Amino acid sequence: MAPLIIVSGPSGCGKSTIIHRLLNEQHVPLRLSVSVTTRKPRPGEQAGVDYHYWSVPEFEKAKDAGRFLEWAQAHTNYYGTLEDDVGPWRAKGVGVVLDIDVQGWEQVMRRCPDAVSVFVRTTSLATLETRLRGRATESEDAIQRRLQTAQIELARADAYDHQIVNDELETAIAEVRTIIASAFAAKQ
Ligand code: 5GP
Repeated sequence: MAPLIIVSGPSGCGKSTIIHRLLNEQHVPLRLSVSVTTRKPRPGEQAGVDYHYWSVPEFEKAKDAGRFLEWAQAHTNYYGTLEDDVGPWRAKGVGVVLDIDVQGWEQVMRRCPDAVSVFVRTTSLATLETRLRGRATESEDAIQRRLQTAQIELARADAYDHQIVNDELETAIAEVRTIIASAFAAKQ
């Protein structure tokens, strides 16, 4: 079984940038699981690439049928990882990265205790707020909600296998690269 790597961290911490850079390097066979969400696509996001965008009834049907490895409700929307998007790849030798929140991490660690977890954060909440505002894709309300969620998530960061402070992108990428390489080495 190839490694399962969970990456969590508040919105705006730079998680997706780090993940996409490492996926593009292709040092190891690795893919990002495409989650299902009931939120609407943001400008520039693509269905099937960033997320699968489903309706609430579609999501609830899959949830009741047990098709999700984990699922969570965040910011008034559902998010979930389909088991079919994880297990079969790992069995084929392809590592899977999950970009999921703390609620999802708790479920995956229970079901897949061999998963390696990484929490990405900024040094301060103020840095995060600046980044969220810089992104300018969200209403003030949404920004406030995300900052509140960030505070709750930060309180759990210590329980992850690794914590990465992303104040300097290249350093953070190098640290996550090393973690992924070790996860593959441990599976050999
Ligand atoms: P966003 O709406 O900004 O894309 O994502 C909001 C939060 O949902 C992020 O913290 C992201 O990690 C989390 N998230 C995205 N996909 C999933 C998923 O499949 N499961 C869980 N539990 N969280 C997810």
